[in-house]
Amino acid sequence: MEIYLDNCATTKVCEEAIRASVYAMSEQYANPSSLHKKGFEAEKLITDAKRVFANALSCDEREIYFTSCATESNNMSIIGTAFAKKRVGNKIITTQIEHPSVLQAVKYLETQGFEVVTIKPGKDGSFNAEDFYDATDDKTILVSTMLVNNEVGLILPVDEIGKAVKRKTPDVIYHVDAVQAFGKLPIKLKNSPIDLLSASGHKTYAPKGIGLIYIKKGVRLTPLLYGGGQQKGIRPGTESVPLICAFAAAVESIDIKENLEHYNMLKNYLISRLSEIEEVSVNSNENCVPYIVNISVKGVRSEVNLHFLEQYGIFVSSGSACAKGEKSYVLKALGCNDKQIDTALRISFSKDTQKSDIDELVDRLKLGIKTLIKLK
Ligand code: PLP
Repeated sequence: MEIYLDNCATTKVCEEAIRASVYAMSEQYANPSSLHKKGFEAEKLITDAKRVFANALSCDEREIYFTSCATESNNMSIIGTAFAKKRVGNKIITTQIEHPSVLQAVKYLETQGFEVVTIKPGKDGSFNAEDFYDATDDKTILVSTMLVNNEVGLILPVDEIGKAVKRKTPDVIYHVDAVQAFGKLPIKLKNSPIDLLSASGHKTYAPKGIGLIYIKKGVRLTPLLYGGGQQKGIRPGTESVPLICAFAAAVESIDIKENLEHYNMLKNYLISRLSEIEEVSVNSNENCVPYIVNISVKGVRSEVNLHFLEQYGIFVSSGSACAKGEKSYVLKALGCNDKQIDTALRISFSKDTQKSDIDELVDRLKLGIKTLIKLK
């Protein structure tokens, strides 16, 4: 038996994605830049895929570019904007709870003379667009925030943030890391203040190794790579047709509305069952998505609990997969104390998660508390 509740770290690849990639690898294997018919056919698969993403995001297909992962999309957005706009200003605004692929990119930019301001959440653990307005000035070139946080599932008010910063400085570029939202929440880029958006295939039932970046028409980035001129030279390198097709097939097969109903049902059920356990407190509040539930289990350290559950084929996370072993700066910023942080577990659902998986998890958590607390 395997109960996989670590879908924020990565998802199992769906059948549609597998089929699409196998077709591209076995039949449409030509280089999409080749001038012959087979090259043209491979290129057409990329164009068709772009249409799927443009449809999913309500943008123009010419605004979609492919990358190797969202880490690359985030780096491209942040470093590419900073270098493209360095004559205009040097200030960048982000938040304390971003993914390391944003925080490390801005840290690098600090070594290059850029000034970085990180916005803290308020006491209630939410972000206020007016704080971004106040921090923005005429030297501000870029604001980068996530849409959904990967550890607790907090939703940031990106439309309000984007509108607020542009009200202050109209030319500021607004980048959104939508990795934990894309394919799960509806995202409409038409008439939105978002200029750049990152997403990743392996969080939405496609394989690892494929990401995308939406670049609003007219927004200029300095490329991080130089090469053969593919993707208008903004991101050169031969496109991975199989991974692009897999990503598009996976996204096309997702029914966001139906999945959200399912996630809401699962979250409500999980929360009600967890209320049976005195030692459990829930760190994800009502501003969080229904597919990520972060909890703390009094008296049982995260890693110990994770490995206890693993013996029963239940897989959860002790935080984000990218922050192995380190104390969560996200939970700290959101007001959790050290004990809550040391005992935190992240449970994240997929479209295939069942109520019976939650029953099994809750039963094993209860058993774990009995066994492990006694052992101490
Ligand atoms: N941004 C967020 C919010 C994430 O959760 C992740 C991955 O966990 C990333 C960016 C990086 O994505 P990738 O693994 O595609 O580089």
